[in-house]
Amino acid sequence: MSKLHSLSIAIVGAGIAGLTAATALARRGASVTVHERADALREVGAGLQLSPNALRVLDALDLWPRLQAVSVPSERVELRDSSARLVARLDLARYRPKDRFRLVHRARLLELLADAARDAGACILLDQDIATPPQADLVVGADGVKSRMRPLLNGPEIPFFTGQTAWRAVIPAEPGAQPAAQVFMGPGRHLVSYPLGQGMRNIVAVVERPDWRDEGWSQPGDPADLRAAFGHFGGPVPDWLAAVDQVSLWGLFRHPVAAHWQRPAGQGPALALIGDAAHPTLPFLAQGAVMAIEDAWVLAACLSEDALTPALARYQALRQPRCQRIVKAANDNARNYHLQGPARAVAHAGLRAVSTLAPARLIERFAWLYDYDPTAL
Ligand SMILES: Cc1cc2nc3c(=O)[nH]c(=O)nc-3n(C[C@H](O)[C@H](O)[C@H](O)COP(=O)(O)OP(=O)(O)OC[C@H]3O[C@@H](n4cnc5c(N)ncnc54)[C@H](O)[C@@H]3O)c2cc1C
Repeated sequence: MSKLHSLSIAIVGAGIAGLTAATALARRGASVTVHERADALREVGAGLQLSPNALRVLDALDLWPRLQAVSVPSERVELRDSSARLVARLDLARYRPKDRFRLVHRARLLELLADAARDAGACILLDQDIATPPQADLVVGADGVKSRMRPLLNGPEIPFFTGQTAWRAVIPAEPGAQPAAQVFMGPGRHLVSYPLGQGMRNIVAVVERPDWRDEGWSQPGDPADLRAAFGHFGGPVPDWLAAVDQVSLWGLFRHPVAAHWQRPAGQGPALALIGDAAHPTLPFLAQGAVMAIEDAWVLAACLSEDALTPALARYQALRQPRCQRIVKAANDNARNYHLQGPARAVAHAGLRAVSTLAPARLIERFAWLYDYDPTAL
């Protein structure tokens, strides 16, 4: 019988991590309450790329049919320079035919997860700004990049600004939009775009800008600034940017992966961190939400097999090294996308050669990322 049957669990945060964990834990018999600060489960417009390592979890939770209905496939990733000339193509459909890569609006994913959590018996409480751990056998800190639960285990922490800011916007998709994520790379800036289904296209545009100070979700931005920053980009970019009428802005900060992800009961209730609360990441590998989903499954699996104290220790041992590797790889991509001068010419020529001569090799480099199956641990 699952060890979760007699356990009461309070989850702080109804984001992707919190709602996936609520579903996985409640399905295994825990009594789950989710405490969310917002007064409604709404979300600013933004897209997410989901890779097979997260989809294995959504499959195991029987959520694939619902996800399939609200998302579109991503058949390839194209790296282009700022004039839209192809630098490299990662042909996901061809070289990883058994895997699913999906593109989805974040709000649709959250709705789907909230429904699944409630169907599994979890209770979601809104308008709950949690400062100290609620009463429960276990508190799960899923409260995102500005987590209040993380410092309880790790002390205060000062993230450092990467010098990069990201605009995010959703525009109407053109008819017959390519099922691909396209990355346009210029010196000191890059722009990523992909369709989201339901007639939408996502845009993330990153520039180096040293004067930003504030971290967190969504500050309103000015579409004119976005158009000015990418005015010299070619291909479809000018038309896409002309269609932007609302844009939000993020400062991109780097945090170390938390040293301590859990503590057994003792000084307060037992505590575990999942998602951005444990390992905020730069978005340059599209794995933040994916890691959150992986964490949620692994935490529930560990807790259902073992007593609380060893289960929490095992959870951290399984997850921390993988998340450290992913966060580092995302940091490295930040540098690679924005190369300037001769370094850029050399790197692009190298990528073009590999993409032409040995295209499968480009994708094999990510086998460690996409082959991981959290449900088989
Ligand atoms: C520009 C950009 C592009 C991205 N693209 C991708 C992508 O393509 N693929 C991908 O996998 N990831 C992507 N990500 C990352 C992804 O969005 C995050 O990693 C993911 O949302 C983390 O989920 P989470 O549940 O841990 O945190 P969040 O989604 O931030 O959820 C935290 C929740 O906790 C609540 N909360 C916070 N504090 C409290 C409190 N004190 N009390 C109660 N509730 C509280 C918040 O309101 C929120 O609902 C991107 C991020 C950015 C910035």
